[in-house]
Amino acid sequence: MGIQTSPACKYKSFNALIRINEPELLYEVFLEQLDAGERPRVELFERSEGGPWRQLQANGKRNELPPASEERRLLERRIDPEREQQWFYEPARLGWFCAYKPCSRRQYAMFYAPEQQRILDEDYVQLLFSVYCHQFTGIEGVFRDSLTGLYNRRAFDQRMHALIEHSRQPMRRSRLSQPAVFAMVDIDHFKRVNDQHGHVVGDELLAEIAGIMSESFREYDLLFRYGGEEFALVLMDMDEAMSQQALERFRRRIADSDFPRQLRVTVSIGYCLFDAEAGIQGLIDRADQALYASKRNGRNQVQRFPLS
Ligand code: GH3
Ligand code: MG
Ligand code: MG
Repeated sequence: MGIQTSPACKYKSFNALIRINEPELLYEVFLEQLDAGERPRVELFERSEGGPWRQLQANGKRNELPPASEERRLLERRIDPEREQQWFYEPARLGWFCAYKPCSRRQYAMFYAPEQQRILDEDYVQLLFSVYCHQFTGIEGVFRDSLTGLYNRRAFDQRMHALIEHSRQPMRRSRLSQPAVFAMVDIDHFKRVNDQHGHVVGDELLAEIAGIMSESFREYDLLFRYGGEEFALVLMDMDEAMSQQALERFRRRIADSDFPRQLRVTVSIGYCLFDAEAGIQGLIDRADQALYASKRNGRNQVQRFPLS
């Protein structure tokens, strides 16, 4: 009976949600708490800092809604970006919108179209959605680096482990996104920036570079601040040529940017194919070898492993 479940079952649902610590699996687990007939009636949306609304898919991906779509129009028109919680009936779509903005950069919305004639246990769905949002925000907070907003080292260890496990389980392969390329990025001569302008300017520059990085890759690529002025990237679902182009485009964008105080900086990048058999340390070693080749060859370049 899914939505109209007994109290014992309800507790079990919330428990399932709060035990999850992978953002990609959270939506799947959320859907599992509803019964099969109800699932197609629920849609989840999210947006970051007033950006465009995206719709979640069962595989953890997010699709930007087309500008002309009815959902997007409704979300933009009726959901207040400042309000912490909203819950209203939308006659145009014969369903309920629930929006939630925990203390985070993100805002979440759920659309629920109840079956005609059926009494909806609104409290249950709304509570489930709140738990989902809280959990998502909690995962995000623990795993984000506060200076750059990228995933932190803790996230790196956990996500890399999970990716390697997933890649080794053939049954799960087709369902989730597949990691394609692992890359390490290191800012060139960053010590000079600190020495000449101070650490505060160095920190600002790190945040700027991370911002350009977020804009340069797709929502479901994984971007980590690995440590200091070094970043690790996992590019998903693309072939090597596309990955190389994406890395090259990012490198060029950094080299062409005018940063505050007219600073110019470059980055060196090394990458290898994401081979789960190599393990985390193996992937780091491979990308690092390519990165050091970039440094040796004069910096501001992308190199692959194995070196040719
Ligand atoms: P290379 O091109 O060989 O990478 O030169 P580099 O100067 O970037 O390399 P090195 O590893 O010698 O120095 C990295 C510097 O990055 C050391 C430190 O001053 C700076 N750094 C690391 N983390 C931070 C940070 O969080 N904030 C600031 N401001 N500086 C940092
Ligand atoms: Mg370094
Ligand atoms: Mg450096």
